[in-house]
Amino acid sequence: MRAFQLVHAQKPPELREVPVPDPGPGQVLVKVGGAGACHSDLHLMEAPAERLPKLPFTIGHENAGWVEKLGPGATGFAPGDPVMVYGPWGCGLCANCREGKENYCQKTGGLGGGLGGHDGGMAEYLLVPASRFLIPLGTLDPREAAPLSDAGLTSYHAVKRSLDLLGPGSTAVVIGAGGLGQMAIQMLRALSAAAVVAVDTSADKLTTAKRLGADEGLLSGEEAVTRIKDMTRGQGAELVLDMVGVDPTLRMAAQVARVLGHLTIVGLGGGALPVDFSSPPHECSVASPYWGSIPELMEVITLAQQQKIKMLVEGFPLERAGEAYQLLHDGKIQGRAVVTPHP
Ligand code: NAD
Ligand code: ZN
Ligand code: ZN
Repeated sequence: MRAFQLVHAQKPPELREVPVPDPGPGQVLVKVGGAGACHSDLHLMEAPAERLPKLPFTIGHENAGWVEKLGPGATGFAPGDPVMVYGPWGCGLCANCREGKENYCQKTGGLGGGLGGHDGGMAEYLLVPASRFLIPLGTLDPREAAPLSDAGLTSYHAVKRSLDLLGPGSTAVVIGAGGLGQMAIQMLRALSAAAVVAVDTSADKLTTAKRLGADEGLLSGEEAVTRIKDMTRGQGAELVLDMVGVDPTLRMAAQVARVLGHLTIVGLGGGALPVDFSSPPHECSVASPYWGSIPELMEVITLAQQQKIKMLVEGFPLERAGEAYQLLHDGKIQGRAVVTPHP
């Protein structure tokens, strides 16, 4: 089969011919329907060799498809079932895994296929280590649903931990209205009473953000800070989600968050948040959530089935995976690029 693999650090991945994996005991082979192109893959492609796991490996950690073959003893699914693949693959036995929080596995750290150690989904088939990582998709099409497993789940987890702050009259700011940000905006709309403010450097992304339910779209910069302060009578926002994570966005996040608020860093832009006694504001909690839990992914799938959230998907055949990432890099993907090996 063909697989889109990272072969050399800091070089573009390559489409290579590799054997179709045969599922061993408990494992499941999934025929890939969709594999989303996440901005984290761009960070991975830019990382130096010493920060990467063993090469080569197939990238793609945002996957959905159809069950192709069950290994000996694997249960719960039948060939042809449409499934979502939960991405962080834990040990299943530590305290966090037993709560379904395999993103915080105490043994594996929650790394899954496509992030090193295991091959990911930008290939014709994906080997999944256990059927507990599969969730039935019901009526959802794997080609459309794939981004829910990361852009959806990560945003959901980040929003959900702050819901008790987001009553009527509250404000949530989403910095970076790309794949993750667009999901967060729709979830804030569906689950909270907060006014939603999107901030981005791209006017196009702000138009999309408003179409998806944002009350305001502001270009990144000083004026956005002033406007958010005005909107919140000088208090700042209850929740600020930074989906970029570079120095300027983190600085802005601290300026627009309020006392007792939440400042949540989701973007892996490599910036640092300056912290002193009065900034971020007093008793504003800072968190850096990573992905989400298995039960949360089931909730995200329910929201999509209820048509309360929908990703703007642009499909690419496997041979155009490199082009999809180039477009993502250049800011030219409006929602999410999804590689569809079986269109
Ligand atoms: P994306 O490229 O689809 O979206 C990023 C958006 O940020 C774009 O709309 C871009 O215009 C905007 N942007 C860039 N610089 C900006 C700035 N200075 N101010 C405001 N907006 C700016 O990326 P994505 O796939 O949504 O990923 C977003 C980030 O989240 C990435 O850093 C990614 O690695 C990270 N991520 C983290 C997790 C996690 O578990 N914490 C999971 C998935 C992705
Ligand atoms: Zn990702
Ligand atoms: Zn574990």
